[in-house]
Amino acid sequence: MRKRNQISFTVPDELKERMEAAIEKLPGRWDLTKFARVAINEKLERIESNRCPKCGELNLNEARYCSSCGQPLTSEAQQKHEEIQKLIEDNIDLFRSIVEERSKKL
Ligand SMILES: [Zn+2]
Repeated sequence: MRKRNQISFTVPDELKERMEAAIEKLPGRWDLTKFARVAINEKLERIESNRCPKCGELNLNEARYCSSCGQPLTSEAQQKHEEIQKLIEDNIDLFRSIVEERSKKL
């Protein structure tokens, strides 16, 4: 027997679970096709726009850094990251002493 609200077309399991959970919460009737289209578009958008170039992790569209490896995902974040890298490299001794100082306090 089919479960009420069960989705009858092929979508990734993770997405299907999310969709079914969302449908459970919706009052009254809901246009499943429309809902699926929105959910799938969201998922596709996320896949295309925010896959980490370093480790392949999918990140939220608004994420600026990879949630898995910390790779900057936007040009703005990349620029900041490079600035910090350069600052560290130019002041490596100072940076080392700051890190040592801080680890003493922990
Ligand atoms: Zn990553």
